[in-house]
Amino acid sequence: MNFANRAGLRMTRQRKVILEELQHMMTHPSAEEVYDVVRKRLHRISLGTVYRNLEILSELGEITKLEFGGTIKRFDPNPEDHYHIRCSLCDKVVDAPMALLDHVEAHLSKKTEFKIIGHRLEFYGLCPECAAHMISPGLKKLEELKK
Ligand SMILES: [Zn+2]
Ligand SMILES: [Zn+2]
Repeated sequence: MNFANRAGLRMTRQRKVILEELQHMMTHPSAEEVYDVVRKRLHRISLGTVYRNLEILSELGEITKLEFGGTIKRFDPNPEDHYHIRCSLCDKVVDAPMALLDHVEAHLSKKTEFKIIGHRLEFYGLCPECAAHMISPGLKKLEELKK
């Protein structure tokens, strides 16, 4: 029995609502953020249930689970491979509008004789809002040095 079957049909309606709500969220939310929205429709749902269903949906390939180094898990309604940029100050995550680097995998495969099955690439920086405010004293100093 696969993972989805084990999880049971009982959760189907909840799962559907969770998927619907996530599809309206462009922010790559955490499980807690999805829970805050979903519980407006499903009053008795628990955070644990939302979390479990998000895991199942990602297992089913309906959504993507994002795990950035050292930060909380986030969920993405877009199941296609794509890259992200994360703001180092406010943790905002947006899609990186660029093509997949498939040719790098082919190149590496040729060089190493490894069968490459995937790769992870994470961009980080400052979002426009954080860059405008520059609240970090260290960054402020850096900017001043550049002048
Ligand atoms: Zn930011
Ligand atoms: Zn995304």
